Amino acid sequence: MTKGNFKNSASIEINKKALELKAQGKKVVNLSIGQPRFFLDEEIKKLLNEAIETNNNFYTVSAGISDFRKQILKWHKWEVKFSVDNLLVTPGAKNAIFTSIKALINPGDEVIVFAPYWISYIEMIELCGGIVKVVQPKENLNLNLNLLKEVLTSRTKAIIVNNPNNPSGKLLSLDEIKEILNIANEKNLFIIADEIYSTITFGKSFISFSDFMENNNVVIINGVSKSLSCTGLRIGYILASKEILRKIMPVHQHISTCAGSLEQYALSKLDETRYEKIVEEYNFEYSKARSLLLNCEKIKGVGIIPEGAFYMLLNIKKKYKNSTQASEDLLLNYGIATVPGIAYGIDDYIRISFAGDISEIEGFIEIVEENNLF
Ligand code: PLP
Repeated sequence: MTKGNFKNSASIEINKKALELKAQGKKVVNLSIGQPRFFLDEEIKKLLNEAIETNNNFYTVSAGISDFRKQILKWHKWEVKFSVDNLLVTPGAKNAIFTSIKALINPGDEVIVFAPYWISYIEMIELCGGIVKVVQPKENLNLNLNLLKEVLTSRTKAIIVNNPNNPSGKLLSLDEIKEILNIANEKNLFIIADEIYSTITFGKSFISFSDFMENNNVVIINGVSKSLSCTGLRIGYILASKEILRKIMPVHQHISTCAGSLEQYALSKLDETRYEKIVEEYNFEYSKARSLLLNCEKIKGVGIIPEGAFYMLLNIKKKYKNSTQASEDLLLNYGIATVPGIAYGIDDYIRISFAGDISEIEGFIEIVEENNLF
């Protein structure tokens, strides 16, 4: 890919289109963007105000203030195995992923991504001069680890995994995680494990790559955008060995200097009990929206059941040629904004988000039932 040919994010673009249609007075059910709907938690609001009152408007140390890193360790129960020296705070998880890729791969290195993949991985790898190797999934959209072995070459440098997955909502099993770790160990590859949706699961347990980091080149990505409904605060973080963080730090310093100071000071005082309470409250709301979708007869046969995150993939093959045609028809003729699966490397599906207001999901179901859409 030559410079200047990078693509805009499909979900951000569709969201923009949906907002434009709304502004023109058209009724739009917007299921396009992964934006949790909850306003600031009262405690976080108070802590942010305190951070302002105490004049925390200056650069912080690049790794992030120590108290905040201590608190992150507690949120994720990482303090037993890790210390603040294993954490680097970044302006958002997106920045954490890009900074990691930039630091760990050289132009010409191959990076493996599993479809369905989060849109930005592809562009980020290419922005860093890397070569993307996509591993297509099995029929049920689970990882195809046999195919993974087939695409490995002497130039492969890293594997990116997203667990829970955006857009499929699938969680990785222990066997899948162990097999990826074995392959990465054997071939000396980095694993970038994007766990930004780790707190949002529905029954099945989430297994973190952080449980298996002893002999591996694992980089864990997480943040507060989804867990605390704080997409606008721009706080992400990287958990990795000190050696890996030493490689990432210079890139972080030259690109970002540090994450936002007010956010860091405020969140450093958000204890784990409150953190868990917020997460639980939001998950309860997501579960309600998810149940509505799973109980809709017209969706049952075409939807991939989400085990985590707040997205659902719907198969469109019965009615449409491809996902772009489906998304366009749904937006222009039914006022439903979705993201075409082709943006995630799978053209038989569209993605809907159930992170928005529950009335959007209700409106969507009504239109689906009335028009027999799928
Ligand atoms: N990783 C995945 C899989 C995501 O879906 C998103 C946001 O949609 C991010 C990372 C980015 O998170 P942040 O808003 O913290 O940059």
